[in-house]
Amino acid sequence: MSQNKVIIIGGGISGLSSARYLAKAGWQVTVLEKGDFKDGCSYGNAGFVCPSHYVQLATPGIARQGLKWMLNHTSPFYIQPRLDSALIRWGIQFLKRAKQKYVNHNGVPLRDIGLLSQREYEEVWQKELNFDYQHKGMLEVFQSTAARKECTHIAKMGQDLGLDIEMLDKEGLEHLEPDTKWNAIGAVYYKCDGHLNPRKLMEGLQDQLSTLGVQLIPRQTVTGIKKEGNLISEVHTDNQIYKADAVVLAAGSWSEPLARQLSLNLPVVGGRGYSFMVPVSNGHRIHRPGLLVEGRAAFTPLADQLRFGGTMEIRKLDAPLALNRVKGIIQAVGQFFPDYQLDFNQIQHQIWSGFRPVSVDGMPYIGKSPKIDNLVIATGHAQLGISLGAATGLLVSELVRGVQTSINISTFGINRFNN
Ligand SMILES: Cc1cc2nc3c(=O)[nH]c(=O)nc-3n(C[C@H](O)[C@H](O)[C@H](O)COP(=O)(O)OP(=O)(O)OC[C@H]3O[C@@H](n4cnc5c(N)ncnc54)[C@H](O)[C@@H]3O)c2cc1C
Repeated sequence: MSQNKVIIIGGGISGLSSARYLAKAGWQVTVLEKGDFKDGCSYGNAGFVCPSHYVQLATPGIARQGLKWMLNHTSPFYIQPRLDSALIRWGIQFLKRAKQKYVNHNGVPLRDIGLLSQREYEEVWQKELNFDYQHKGMLEVFQSTAARKECTHIAKMGQDLGLDIEMLDKEGLEHLEPDTKWNAIGAVYYKCDGHLNPRKLMEGLQDQLSTLGVQLIPRQTVTGIKKEGNLISEVHTDNQIYKADAVVLAAGSWSEPLARQLSLNLPVVGGRGYSFMVPVSNGHRIHRPGLLVEGRAAFTPLADQLRFGGTMEIRKLDAPLALNRVKGIIQAVGQFFPDYQLDFNQIQHQIWSGFRPVSVDGMPYIGKSPKIDNLVIATGHAQLGISLGAATGLLVSELVRGVQTSINISTFGINRFNN
């Protein structure tokens, strides 16, 4: 019997994880990637695997705060104003979704997909790949009483969702992380979270896919998708035409124009973030990853180094780096960690950046198009693509195979903004 064939557009975590599950289910898988499977948003991120992220990105607070941040060139959030109809449509929808009723409604589905993903990483992937996964929790560290109040409120929401979360005062934080100094008044300790090394994950996954017989084809930019009736019949790249029984669109921040070719409205913009690595300073080790609440920066211990990262900058996908934002991260790090007074000139040469694919509420699009029977979409994960990567691949494979999905995914449907 001939094998079913699937083409996956995009070789980030969403595409490769989908490839993994589909290959294991016996499908013949080809992944088309415009780059070379060596870099991109899935490689240099903070590596949090965080069921604790049960609050969607579009919150009433971020909409208010975002306007103030836009006037500050080192701030962690920025939307470059421009006359671009896709960006304007995205912005209008973002403001519509930044409402408390959506935050409340989306907590349970975000928790469920987060826990599913974490379970897959811990119980399945870890047995097959080494990506330095650790379940040590994640810290949300704050300096002001106002931030403590807000964090306590969000932590309570997580406790009500059944997640293992503890509030720490300054002594509690210093007791848990005794090897570095903290300029903070406390933290939320999300014991439910884990973290991993994203580059090791992506490289290990590629090795595994090659063993499973998956074709990973670099430097193949998909330029056209041809539809006949309610089926995709061909996928065109600059120099090839591919045919398959099913197609998965997982092109990250570049997904929107490809979906538009199929008359699908899939609002996604690229939210650029930056990261850099520094060696552990004079033994001042930090054992858990976390977020600096007022500084909006992330830190992750990766072997003998620390990765710092952050910012959400919505600009054109070919815009030059905005290095002032990296200076903003360095400033935040220095304010929270007296032991880490970093010098921009020393890290400048190794700054990494990547575009998070941001849907209009920051929650993923995982679903089938009602108009095209053999297309599955997996993008829009914003700051959660790695965390939800394992679950995304599993759910995509279930949708492609036409079997019941492991969890209810109606909240992630691709048509949720067409009302
Ligand atoms: C600073 C920073 C920190 C982050 N920290 C975390 C974290 O701690 N935890 C977490 O879960 N997430 C985190 N993220 C977000 C996470 O990195 C992304 O959500 C995730 O990588 C998105 O994966 P993806 O596969 O959907 O998209 P991508 O990784 O962008 O992959 C899409 C791929 O499609 C390819 N492509 C695009 N167009 C075409 C085309 N026409 N033809 C062929 N190929 C195409 C692209 O080249 C790309 O390789 C962070 C991001 C940043 C920037």
